[in-house]
Amino acid sequence: MEYESVIGLEVHAQLLTKSKLFCSCVTVFQADPNDHTCPICLGMPGVLPVLNRLAVEFAIRTGLAMHGQVARVSRFARKNYFYPDLPKGYQISQYEEPLIEGGGLSIDVDGTSRYIRLIRIHLEEDAGKSIHGENLADPSKSYVDLNRTGVPLLEIVSEPDLRSPEEARVYLQKLKSILEYIEVCDGNMEEGSLRCDANVSLRPKGSETLGTRTEIKNLNSFRNVQRALEYEIERQAEVLDGGGRVVQETRLFDANRGVTLPMRSKEEAHDYRYFPEPDLVPMRIDQEWVERVRQDLPELPDTRRQRFVTRYGLPDYDAEVLTASKALADYYEATVRLYNQPKVVSNWVMGDLTRELNRQHHTPEQAPVTPTHLADLLRLIDEGVLSGKIAKTVFEAMYRTGKPAKTIVDEQGLVQMTDSAALEAVIHKVLADNASQVEDYHAGKQKVFGFLVGQTMKATQGKANPALVNKLLRKCLDNTGQ
Ligand SMILES: [Zn+2]
Repeated sequence: MEYESVIGLEVHAQLLTKSKLFCSCVTVFQADPNDHTCPICLGMPGVLPVLNRLAVEFAIRTGLAMHGQVARVSRFARKNYFYPDLPKGYQISQYEEPLIEGGGLSIDVDGTSRYIRLIRIHLEEDAGKSIHGENLADPSKSYVDLNRTGVPLLEIVSEPDLRSPEEARVYLQKLKSILEYIEVCDGNMEEGSLRCDANVSLRPKGSETLGTRTEIKNLNSFRNVQRALEYEIERQAEVLDGGGRVVQETRLFDANRGVTLPMRSKEEAHDYRYFPEPDLVPMRIDQEWVERVRQDLPELPDTRRQRFVTRYGLPDYDAEVLTASKALADYYEATVRLYNQPKVVSNWVMGDLTRELNRQHHTPEQAPVTPTHLADLLRLIDEGVLSGKIAKTVFEAMYRTGKPAKTIVDEQGLVQMTDSAALEAVIHKVLADNASQVEDYHAGKQKVFGFLVGQTMKATQGKANPALVNKLLRKCLDNTGQ
């Protein structure tokens, strides 16, 4: 039977506040275990939580960026469960009255644009971390690190509007991009500041009723979101085709083997015995505050992408790639301000720069080649000092050393050969060394010409100006032919 997959994502984004959600402990990622804890985030008896105002503002900003409704009144709730890394025995979250409802974002897959609706966005505190095995004093024991306990998270829940693993990946990438643009989350999936759970079920194509879903936990990369869903869809289809029933459960993705495995049967909301948090009053949001946050919203990825097309005349593809990351788009615009040839800059940023960034695992801000350095390099090509080919080598050296183009060119003697007399001398030697090819050329084998161009470029270590080589080579060949 042919099935349609129905996918919804639940994303946890760690907010970039300096302190935790209900205490003043700092939220840094690198620290010794349990260094950043206090009686409040350790859940000592008698302490009271104090809400972090900036975390609420970040949640409002996110809600507005995704066109959601900011609730005038919302409330925190206790989500009760027992786990060693949850010292209070409950997590302060939001349940019946979340801060943001509705909204959505559009994604483009294969040239088709689709709007994915959001159910809600709410604020909650993170739990701690259990550490098993690893390099610990006693590997047979488990340890608990509570630095993460109480760190503010946004939970962003989509409607089950996604129809393929690829759409799920693109949705997550878009979400990350928006969070990055509005500067509420660094989007680092490796460090866990963006985490994703996926719900997926199948139904016969054309059917409107939902099938039984499974939830896949803790997907820590875009690629794994897609892989885990592809596997899970295949698995559910096999179960259904074999006449079986899909069991509602939580599954874990084993990235090494590329399979999902059952973890536990799915909890229902009542298992958590939610009730309103008695230590916090309901949150009343001042509309003026919301309006102020709305006014201060920066340009978002979709708008910026449109602007890149209209203002710089870039193809859609370039605009999309460049604006997917705010830092890359900033780098691009800074370079265009210094060297006003938008498409040329786009080619270098999407090509050579991105390749080096990926190779070195750098963000655009960490690139040793600054926009000023890149603009200077491009000017050297225009001035005829460098050929396009040598410029690529120079760029690599600039990236490795952090030195400006001019310095590299001087140090390595890479200036383009534009001296006709010197070049002619090289060509004469090439022709002498390749006498049989020259004969072939005169016998009408035009292909040989390209070979001779290549030999000349090689003899000059790529420094010759290719247009000049072509011109002089024709001239010399014609002379030898007479
Ligand atoms: Zn604390």
